[in-house]
Amino acid sequence: MGEFDLIARYFTRPVRPGSAVALGVGDDCALLAPAPGMQLAISSDMLVEGRHFFADVDPEALGHKALAVNLSDLAACGARPLAFTLALSLPRVDERWLAGFSRGMWQLADAHGCQLVGGDTTQGPLNICITVFGEVPPGQALLRSGARAGDDIYVSGTLGDARLALEALLGHLTLPAEVLARTRQRLERPTPRVALGQALRGIASSAMDLSDGLLGDLSHILKASGVGACIDTAITSKLIAKNAYQSSAGGHLDLEIIRRCTLSGGDDYELAFTAPPAHRGAVAAAADASGTPVTRIGTVQAEPGLRLVDGAGQPVAHRYASFDHFQ
Ligand code: ADP
Ligand code: MG
Repeated sequence: MGEFDLIARYFTRPVRPGSAVALGVGDDCALLAPAPGMQLAISSDMLVEGRHFFADVDPEALGHKALAVNLSDLAACGARPLAFTLALSLPRVDERWLAGFSRGMWQLADAHGCQLVGGDTTQGPLNICITVFGEVPPGQALLRSGARAGDDIYVSGTLGDARLALEALLGHLTLPAEVLARTRQRLERPTPRVALGQALRGIASSAMDLSDGLLGDLSHILKASGVGACIDTAITSKLIAKNAYQSSAGGHLDLEIIRRCTLSGGDDYELAFTAPPAHRGAVAAAADASGTPVTRIGTVQAEPGLRLVDGAGQPVAHRYASFDHFQ
């Protein structure tokens, strides 16, 4: 099978009439027609074998995750997904792999009405780069720079499950089979919080998605906003899948592992955001409307830096660094 048969077979579908896509796969460019007056939100994320995923990962999960991490960036900006491109480097044409990968990708794309409009396909080490395009009303995108002293800090969903699964897959710890299966779902099939992101427009003062770990990612918001924060680790420690630590060997996971996974775990693809206390009701309504749980985990403070406290309000000393590809 040649390059063009491969594209036609696995990565081409008719354009949805009436959508923002005026021209899809097949020409030199795709054409997008966002609603008049809307701003385009654009983001790229690359997944590299051996770096972001294991060589033997289920291709369907990989197709899901490659698009999910990109949709997560649109969610973090409060944008509505429109379309995406797929640049794919493949060692060989493996139809079983392509069928699985494309199935995972199409399922998530369809769930969000996001259409594949083009890309590039080449031979080489397995490498997947997706660029997403979304739309957002002018001035309403959620940015990292809007957090103000006194704002509440929230995260959506759960924290640390993906890292817990990764540690188990790397052989660093042992999890009961059912816990590994569940946390592995979070690692391999993250849920982009697209509906929540849009529901938070006009409510959150800042937002971002969590890819490299809560503390490191949050410090990007703090830096961009020129503020500091205090985080309650008694609350964040409870956001790891409850049964994961209650039923693991010895009855519970060690607090240090829970803190490491929840605070600096990475691969959560949850939203972290801030909002003034006056918006607590509106945040709860946005969480409800989007069917996404959110938890208040701390407070933005004027004094720069990130402080951690335990349940008794005592400082937690350890610095939990986040994942950095070059360290
Ligand atoms: P060009 O050489 O003009 O860049 P290509 O021959 O690489 O175009 O690709 C032909 C068409 O197929 C283009 O419309 C391109 O966007 C699309 N395409 C290539 N690879 C992919 C892919 N992996 N997924 C979706 N569309 C793709
Ligand atoms: Mg090309």
